Amino acid sequence: MSKSLQAIRGMNDTLPEQTPLWRYLESKVSRLLDNYGYKQIRMPIVEFTELFKRSIGEVTDIVEKEMYTFEDRNGDSLTLRPEGTAACVRAVLEHGLTGGGQVQKLWYIGPMFRHERPQKGRYRQFHQIGVEVFNLDGPDIDAELIVLTWRLWGELGIRDAVKLELNSLGTSEARARYRAALVEYLSSRLGELDEDSQRRLKSNPLRVLDTKNADTQAVLVDAPKMVDYLDEESRVHFEGLKARLDTAGIPYTINPKLVRGLDYYSKTVFEWVTDKLGAQGTVCAGGRYDGLVEQMGGKPTSGVGFAMGIERLILMLETLEQIPEEIARQVDVYLCAFGEAAELAALALSERVRDQLPNLRLQINAGAGSFKSQFKKADKSGALYALILGDDELAQQVVGVKPLRGQGEQQTIAWDALAEHLATCIVQG
Ligand code: ATP
Ligand code: MG
Repeated sequence: MSKSLQAIRGMNDTLPEQTPLWRYLESKVSRLLDNYGYKQIRMPIVEFTELFKRSIGEVTDIVEKEMYTFEDRNGDSLTLRPEGTAACVRAVLEHGLTGGGQVQKLWYIGPMFRHERPQKGRYRQFHQIGVEVFNLDGPDIDAELIVLTWRLWGELGIRDAVKLELNSLGTSEARARYRAALVEYLSSRLGELDEDSQRRLKSNPLRVLDTKNADTQAVLVDAPKMVDYLDEESRVHFEGLKARLDTAGIPYTINPKLVRGLDYYSKTVFEWVTDKLGAQGTVCAGGRYDGLVEQMGGKPTSGVGFAMGIERLILMLETLEQIPEEIARQVDVYLCAFGEAAELAALALSERVRDQLPNLRLQINAGAGSFKSQFKKADKSGALYALILGDDELAQQVVGVKPLRGQGEQQTIAWDALAEHLATCIVQG
């Protein structure tokens, strides 16, 4: 195929075989968020470039080198959203949703775009589920965000494979004092830092903590730590969060180097990391951003949120083989009919069964075919049972129910009793 007719590198199709797993994950998350009282918001995929520059920060990897930015026909600079928080804050402000101190607990899902080097777990179009909370200042809501993700890992069967890392970045004043101490220390060992870190030391020194370079990491061992510079308010907040996580029985480690890639965080930051996905180990990341709304032109409004990467979670489910059997299977029952009269009866019967079992995945054979070819299709569909309707069955108003996965003998069931029979032998997805 000519190159211009292929998908863009790092932007993937999700093929029919994969979509059930995506929908399973999406439905688990949306139900969980409903149950905790979060409401969904949907924002456009494209925004003015200025929005991301203002919120994410000019001196970040995302804004410096990862955004898909273009001019539209009016000459406006637009950008495919690289993350969801900026647009969510923009929408909340534009519609006055946080006016008068109103609390908002919001979530969104959708594609994000970053021009990164594509590899396993890292793509140029990827998908996030994000949660943002406004106008709640205390550690209780930070804890709730972590507790609900912990519940999600449990429901998905991946809890043992993820670990929580926590840090506090303090208020902007405390961070400024810490930044000064860090710059002083790192400047004294400038020659030992990698080139990128030397550059960051000038533009965004906290990001040096995030380095993947081993030599720089060695220098960082003795670097000043943010915990020692925390202001009283942030310290109390952090203690409050830890006490709640202890009560909830959620294990965590404090990672003093956790700074996150975006400029807008303050106080709590956290990441859920795994060692099951190689280098792309962070499946969910977030934190508090109490200054962001004001920075974007709103009244002072506290905020806290996180985003999880759907592709990485899907990889986790696959790697850990945590895909429920009824999700992997896309068809429960495959109805084979032989001859025109039987085909007509099959149509009526299948519609009746669908009325009675709305969740049953019943596929009816299309395109006729011999016994052999229809059974082959039934088997290939992944169905648990084939239903057989030929002239004999038609005459007696019954169907043959043939187990396809080694679960016992074929049975003959009256049309009237079919739905009830299927309900007893199939776990419906
Ligand atoms: P990383 O350090 O892996 O680049 P990040 O700090 O840039 O992640 P965030 O901006 O915090 O990531 O996004 C939240 C989550 O979205 C990440 O933890 C990850 O699961 C997912 N994510 C981020 N970038 C990508 C990408 N290019 N491809 C797939 N998933 C991604
Ligand atoms: Mg990144």
